[in-house]
Amino acid sequence: MAFDYDLFVIGGGSGGVRAARVAASEGGAKVGLAEEYRMGGTCVIRGCVPKKLMVFASEYREMFDDARAYGWDLEDGAFNWSKFSGRMRDELDRLEGIYRNLLTNAGVTFYDARAVLKDAHTVELSTGEVFTAKHILVSTGGHPTLPELANADLGITSNDIFLLKELPKSILIVGGGYIACEFAGILNGLGVQVTQYYRGAQILRGFDDEARGVVAEGMREKGVDLHVGTNIMQMEKRDGGIWIKSTTGRECTVDQVLFATGRTPNTAGLGLEEAGVEIGRWGEIVVDKYSQTNVPSIYAIGDVTNRISLTPVAIREGAAFAETVFKGNPVAPDHDLVPSAIFTQPEMATVGLSEEEARDIEKIEVYCSSFKPMQRSFAGRGDRALMKLVVSKETRKVLGCHIVSDHAGEMIQLVGIAIKMGATKEDFDRTVAVHPTISEELVTMKSPVRTT
Ligand code: NDP
Repeated sequence: MAFDYDLFVIGGGSGGVRAARVAASEGGAKVGLAEEYRMGGTCVIRGCVPKKLMVFASEYREMFDDARAYGWDLEDGAFNWSKFSGRMRDELDRLEGIYRNLLTNAGVTFYDARAVLKDAHTVELSTGEVFTAKHILVSTGGHPTLPELANADLGITSNDIFLLKELPKSILIVGGGYIACEFAGILNGLGVQVTQYYRGAQILRGFDDEARGVVAEGMREKGVDLHVGTNIMQMEKRDGGIWIKSTTGRECTVDQVLFATGRTPNTAGLGLEEAGVEIGRWGEIVVDKYSQTNVPSIYAIGDVTNRISLTPVAIREGAAFAETVFKGNPVAPDHDLVPSAIFTQPEMATVGLSEEEARDIEKIEVYCSSFKPMQRSFAGRGDRALMKLVVSKETRKVLGCHIVSDHAGEMIQLVGIAIKMGATKEDFDRTVAVHPTISEELVTMKSPVRTT
């Protein structure tokens, strides 16, 4: 049977675009791609990229204060949201243009339309066009979800925050994950009065306990009014704001409520069930290690599969898919030892096992250093950095590294290489320190603080 395309990709985010480009330019495939919103997906349009620009913007407040401590005579300034957000939108337009050019240059035909599956080899676009394809790749990502709570729609999600016409004076952020904690720091830095409610005992569940503690303490010191063991019980529109009653009985009125209570894979209404594709308990597409679904012609990558929801992982999955299907070289994406950074303030980054995870598996040594970095300390700040290595007692391998510090994300990228190569504590020890830096602590920790 002759198909219209060798590959049709549904979703033009980082993963889908990478798969389409590799399949077309390296695999010689005829590729079509449909995107219903904007090319670039969550990461470029309403995630990592605008978020990081907002992190940069928000950090200037402390930098100006610190500059005075370093002898600079500066006048007090004010942050202009509309000026910044206008420039941010221009930057996103520019990046979207780059994504479109990359697809054009790779010879991919793309459609600004929603696509749904008609069967295992057919897609129908919202324009009414119907195409057949030998292979279909679903890379539709995910979306933020609101909790089941009366009047939850008075609140906004991370999708809306980049589009605000003006910044609220006060905001309540609900959640304790990546997005909640990152936006608490951003908005606090931009001068918004931030309250954060997290239902559990400590924010950033799943990360190393000690590192989470340092982040929470740092966020509070910088001005975030963080309440753990707390959730919204009631919310209503009142007196030009949103009135909240918490599960602990606390009442407050804020200008805005941001729900950062998790994300759900975009699988609804895509025709997946009709095509016989297995959907998991969290609404995700179930795939094997080559990202293939139970319907052999249909593959899925990225957040829609709910494996590790990070852009670089989706890109790896997209490239591995194209390598496997169009270059005759089966490659399973590697989900082990994925480094990541959480752009909280203070910033946190991690690779490998937390102390808690590692000690459930084997006997370990924990090396840890907590100190006031020179740059901040000179400016009179109490900020503390944390460097932590979790080491196997038996093999001496470093099983995990956790950093809370300025530039933690930059550091973990490099430590991640060593750990991925199987570096031992002794390999770290025989590496000479770079002085004076924050990261030198990683190679100068002599005695374990705890052993199991
Ligand atoms: P997370 O799953 O990380 O966090 C969701 C938070 O909401 C948790 O604290 C959860 O609590 C809480 N929550 C869930 N349901 C409710 C409810 N009904 N009421 C109150 N609280 C609730 O999701 P995010 O949306 O923050 O991020 C999604 C994913 O996006 C991340 O897992 C990550 O993979 C990715 N991401 C990565 C970033 C990075 O790399 N820097 C940045 C942003 C996102 P509990 O812990 O109790 O379940």
